[in-house]
Amino acid sequence: MKPLYDVIIIGGGPTGSTMATMLARAGYQALVLEKAKFPREHIGESMLPFCYDLFEELGVLEDVKANFTRKPGVTFANIDGSRSSHWCFNRVIDGPQSLSFHARRSEFDDLLLQHSRKQGVEVREETQVTKVELGQPGDNAKVYAQTPEGEMLQFESRFLVDASGQDCFLPRMLGNQKPFTRLHIRMALSCHWKNAKLDESLANGNIKIVHLGGEKLGWIWMIPLKDDRLSIGLALNMSYAQEQRKILSKEHGARNWQQALYLQELASSPIVMKIIGDAERYWDVVSNGDFSYYAEEKFGHNHAIVGDAAAFLDPIFSSGIYLGMMAAKMVANGIDKVFRDKDYSVMEKAYADMAGGYKVIEELICTFYEPNSIAFSDLQDNGDFSYDKFESAYSILHLLLAGDFFKEHERYLRAIETLRSQKMIDKYKNLTGHMDADKEQQICLMPEMQS
Ligand SMILES: Cc1cc2nc3c(=O)[nH]c(=O)nc-3n(C[C@H](O)[C@H](O)[C@H](O)COP(=O)(O)OP(=O)(O)OC[C@H]3O[C@@H](n4cnc5c(N)ncnc54)[C@H](O)[C@@H]3O)c2cc1C
Repeated sequence: MKPLYDVIIIGGGPTGSTMATMLARAGYQALVLEKAKFPREHIGESMLPFCYDLFEELGVLEDVKANFTRKPGVTFANIDGSRSSHWCFNRVIDGPQSLSFHARRSEFDDLLLQHSRKQGVEVREETQVTKVELGQPGDNAKVYAQTPEGEMLQFESRFLVDASGQDCFLPRMLGNQKPFTRLHIRMALSCHWKNAKLDESLANGNIKIVHLGGEKLGWIWMIPLKDDRLSIGLALNMSYAQEQRKILSKEHGARNWQQALYLQELASSPIVMKIIGDAERYWDVVSNGDFSYYAEEKFGHNHAIVGDAAAFLDPIFSSGIYLGMMAAKMVANGIDKVFRDKDYSVMEKAYADMAGGYKVIEELICTFYEPNSIAFSDLQDNGDFSYDKFESAYSILHLLLAGDFFKEHERYLRAIETLRSQKMIDKYKNLTGHMDADKEQQICLMPEMQS
């Protein structure tokens, strides 16, 4: 007989493991089917402060604190570093939650998945789901999987959760994946470096986002990880990358054009080159492409889609892990309600809140790339007293950068709209002033370094 579980979860990334732990805590028998053998590398290493409470709730906060570097804020800079703005989370969040984390994903995802195991979840690594039958209302979900040795497995569950990340197992099977039409098709190239010369904001733990501007619609991230490891990634408009491919393939060959493009774009930024100095790469450049999509229908009678499998937006604001973990928590509550009362209202509310959150992030992303919008690197509180007038707008942006996506969507959308109005941009710039490289700036300090 096939084993019957309450919930089967496809994928053991942060979304899947959070979901599994929450369900096990609620007394359900959960099975995670994960195709990879953990620890496995993954992109996406910078976390939002709003993850903090989720770590505490899951019971992993102390482990996360012990193993990963701390992130007090975000620094946006222009390509040559002549302008930059520092967004320190402790300006809008009181308490220890203001200090977020950066983590090497192989270690972070493994920590969460091992924790699920300890909470009673059955986890099968190296088990790839190959087929699913959802059946009719009232039916269990049938799940078919395969091991690397070719062993075929069958499972059954009352409910199925797809947390398969960008593999998007159910949206592809159901044929309901759509692009976010307002967002450009993009690609990312990334790598870890050792012996980089961290500037002050990186040394203090900030993620640094360097805007390349122009037709590239590109930006570079720098994330300080532990053990002298700096993650440097590049996100670019796909059409620009494809043009460059034609040029660079001639010189570097069809297999090496991505690495050549990565190095070429890093070299275009004096501030990035200063930080790289004589640093060396740990491995070859890794490519991730064609992101920004959503599943049109995200849940049904016996299934739900969460995390990257449900939707993915441009990663400029480091929102993916938080969105996935928060979705897992909200949908786990929804599943509990369905099991108890056959009532889908909690699930519906969860997806409505998520839709609002994604809308806010989509608007924020469009603002970042819109040439007539305010440049994030230009927004800086230079201590001018009159800046108080804009305190609330500034706080709203701060809160969004910290991850406050699920509440008060309309208020946030209005605030983002402000940044697209030339009149408001001029006012804002006058009040906040342009920060020149030689001006003293307020960087984000770790709490023990603050007076
Ligand atoms: C360029 C780039 C930069 C990013 N930067 C950040 C960042 O700084 N901060 C941030 O928060 N987010 C970032 N993200 C997003 C972040 O990586 C994701 O949002 C996050 O990993 C989502 O977690 P998840 O659990 O939903 O999916 P994943 O972490 O991808 O986990 C899905 C798991 O499912 C497994 N799986 C897939 N198919 C199957 C199958 N058929 N059977 C069994 N298992 C399967 C996979 O092996 C994988 O382990 C970035 C993304 C990109 C592309």
